[in-house]
Amino acid sequence: MDPLLTALLILSALLILTTLLPWILAFTRKPGPAREELVSVLRCSKCGYEEIRKYNKGDYVGRPVGSCPRDGSRMVIKAIYVETLPQG
Ligand SMILES: [Zn+2]
Repeated sequence: MDPLLTALLILSALLILTTLLPWILAFTRKPGPAREELVSVLRCSKCGYEEIRKYNKGDYVGRPVGSCPRDGSRMVIKAIYVETLPQG
């Protein structure tokens, strides 16, 4: 086989590969579906300490829940929202 032809063949093969690679990767590597989780933001009315935890059934904004780890004051739900988490 002609060495020039072989070199040309390899070169063109490489060229096609590098052109197609990102395209192939984009297709094979599908992004996983993002997880959505409902969370509640708790806030201490005294010192302003905030904590985020999973939403519990019956949670509502203004609901008193637990006590502050800093000063033992009552904590109140400040907000409830959906947080989007990356898969994993
Ligand atoms: Zn506090």
